[in-house]
Amino acid sequence: MNYKEILETVYQKIAPIENVGELATYIPELATINSEKFGVHISTVANTNFGLGNFQEKFSIQSIAKVLSLCLAYKHLGESIWDRLGVEPSGNSFNSLVQLETDNGIPRNPFINAGAIVIADILISSLVNPKEDLLNFIKSLSKNKDIDYSAKIAASEKSVGYRNVALCNFIKSYGNIYNDPEVVLDFYFDLCSLELTCEQLSELFFFLANNGQTRQGEQILTKSQSKRINALMQTCGFYDESGEFAFKVGLAGKSGVGGGIIAIHPNQYAIAVWSPKLNKKGNSYRGMRFLEEFTTLSEQSIF
Ligand code: GLU
Repeated sequence: MNYKEILETVYQKIAPIENVGELATYIPELATINSEKFGVHISTVANTNFGLGNFQEKFSIQSIAKVLSLCLAYKHLGESIWDRLGVEPSGNSFNSLVQLETDNGIPRNPFINAGAIVIADILISSLVNPKEDLLNFIKSLSKNKDIDYSAKIAASEKSVGYRNVALCNFIKSYGNIYNDPEVVLDFYFDLCSLELTCEQLSELFFFLANNGQTRQGEQILTKSQSKRINALMQTCGFYDESGEFAFKVGLAGKSGVGGGIIAIHPNQYAIAVWSPKLNKKGNSYRGMRFLEEFTTLSEQSIF
């Protein structure tokens, strides 16, 4: 499969389309991004590494980071993490509170904000220096180690983070947050503020396309754990648009409100796309269109 050629064809087709949608203005710092940015990078198991557009420019990966914190918690604590959260799609928006009441403070999955906040709490309980340890874990997966949190973006989100404050306190009222909510939220905001390029992202997530193993042969997660993370991305990675992503694209994936998407075709590739304008569900408009064309033209999807 000549993924490079297909990528070029799809890029030429999608780059000029009308760039519909809105920036994530609810986080003030994200409202200042140039909405015309568009980058893509693929890392294949057959060792093609190729990017187009703004693929070497850093952006706020936001919720894509929830996959990385989940992987670290899963690596350290194994299946016991599922006592604290579920593995079902929520069918609700990413920051919804409603199901927590009927579910007694157990978030439906690790990719809605509620679930990622519980994972943040789990990491705080089990790591000595959660912020440094998470960053070191992420750096260990990447060739280009120039990766960091953005203090500016974390502060910006914190200044208006009332919904996440409510979520964390609500979950704590059910006994499913063990640490001080303020400490948990600070770690959560830091997590969401991570900045990476498309190139770094696709390299970093390569291990999920490679049965849990990095290109250098290090086993990050077991084969079974890697399959399970991909399954969760496929069923829950796009909030209440996860069905649509499976229907139109057919890959395991995770989006973030910074306009990034990471998608995995197990045993084939990891691909990262960035285009900041979001559709009504909070997912990158052009990113989704790009991946839809990409799997259509390549006639390759997990289905
Ligand atoms: N930091 C964002 C929030 O908590 C993440 C949302 C997302 O990327 O989907 O609202």
